[in-house]
Amino acid sequence: MDMKIRNVWNQLKILRSLKARIFIIVFLIGIIPSVIMRYGILTSYEDRAVSLRTSDVQRQLNIIADHLIAYSYLTDASSEVISAELEQLSNLYDGRVIIINSNLKVIKDTYGISEGKTVISEEVVKCMKDGAGSSDFKDEYDYIEFITPILEKVPMEEAAGGEKPAGDGKGKEKDVVRGVMLTSVSTDSIIATMDILSRKALIMEIMMLFVIFGIALVLAKILVKPFERVTKAISEVKEGFTDEPVSVPDYLETEHIVDAFNELLSRMKVLDTSRQEFVSNVSHELKTPITSVKVLADSLLAQENVPAELYREFMVDIAEEIDREDKIINDLLSMVKMDKKVASLNISVVDINALTEIVLKRLRPIACKRDIELVFESNRAVTAEVDEVKMTLILTNLVENAIKYNKEQGAVKVVLDADHQFFTLNIVDTGIGIPQDSLEHIYERFYRVDKSHSREIGGTGLGLAITRSAVLLHRGSIKVSSVEGEGTTFTVKIPLSYVVV
Ligand code: ADP
Repeated sequence: MDMKIRNVWNQLKILRSLKARIFIIVFLIGIIPSVIMRYGILTSYEDRAVSLRTSDVQRQLNIIADHLIAYSYLTDASSEVISAELEQLSNLYDGRVIIINSNLKVIKDTYGISEGKTVISEEVVKCMKDGAGSSDFKDEYDYIEFITPILEKVPMEEAAGGEKPAGDGKGKEKDVVRGVMLTSVSTDSIIATMDILSRKALIMEIMMLFVIFGIALVLAKILVKPFERVTKAISEVKEGFTDEPVSVPDYLETEHIVDAFNELLSRMKVLDTSRQEFVSNVSHELKTPITSVKVLADSLLAQENVPAELYREFMVDIAEEIDREDKIINDLLSMVKMDKKVASLNISVVDINALTEIVLKRLRPIACKRDIELVFESNRAVTAEVDEVKMTLILTNLVENAIKYNKEQGAVKVVLDADHQFFTLNIVDTGIGIPQDSLEHIYERFYRVDKSHSREIGGTGLGLAITRSAVLLHRGSIKVSSVEGEGTTFTVKIPLSYVVV
């Protein structure tokens, strides 16, 4: 049972194919009109043929009815002329004529079966009364039945049975029913013609079926081809034969698919290059301190009887390089953590004034070394929903940079302000400033404006990348403005309350 359902499902699956659908649609559009046309033509032929035959026979019956009166056939059924006429009619149309007189007695039956019998058929009685004839096509028995009144024109007075008719009916005539003709003619010949027609139409239809089948098959194949080309082109990229942009401009639809794919492709390329760059940068950065350590150690080993002071001096350098390596690794780790997005945020209500004071207090010794003034300015008490550790990192990085890239006896000012939605931290320094063309790069990993100088100062180029990630995690923004030689201002804007989306 389960197998059966699966088989049916597998067979139905083909209907999901565009090719199959186009084939079915074209095929149906081609074949349905021809079936309808065959049916329509045949029925209208039948209607037309039957109505022609009805009027033909009716006309002849009317003539015969007149002759019946003229030859007084109803009183004396021996007229040869009438017999011949009736014979001819019944031969011509393969029919049967029954003549009934006003007493409802059959006086003539061309089949010779019912003569002398009384007919009490409702239609005959009705016709006898009102003198109205009728014809009826008995579809299922293949014959047409006629009821024809035999009318005689008599003067008005006579028709009214001797009584004087009302009004001036003088000289006028009236039809009186003297009997009824009951006729049935076969429609076999019509049916036979229809059979022949129908057979011919069917043969044509079958021929058309083959042609339409072929057309539908070819059309389905041609119309779906561009989509197959899209799949092929994409697979080629996937399998690595090429990374050229795909182009299938046959349809607007395929163009849209391909455009979207190319966009994805170029985004992936950008990602891939930045990943490669990152890896090579990381390895380079990690290698530099190790190379220094190796050089220092080697030069110590190369000399004999090295004085203890020199050992000490080299060891201090080696320890510094190891510290540097440690700093790079720590920065890398915080950056990786930052990439993990919202889940890693540990939100609590934090007093931003207090937090800034703590950070400044921690950095004050470094500032003092270079005689740099560190000022905190706050107009109001600010508390916000932030991750305390990351907020500390943001402030530390920015203030540390403001000190590092400052001049002797310079100044760093941290200004805290807030409105009803955000709090803003401005870190203003009177330092060396950042060149205009470097401004857009400073948030890139490992980017440093002045590589040699920065090395002296001891940066990794990761600080601002980490800071920016941390700000963005808080759904905040970071901006920088700088004038070379005069100073730099970083502005961080963070929402007071953290909204989980
Ligand atoms: P680093 O570890 O080198 O400080 P950052 O990512 O923190 O790396 O900063 C990137 C670069 O931007 C720095 O090397 C420096 O050239 C420049 N920079 C950052 N802050 C300042 C500032 N306040 N004044 C001048 N230059 C700055």
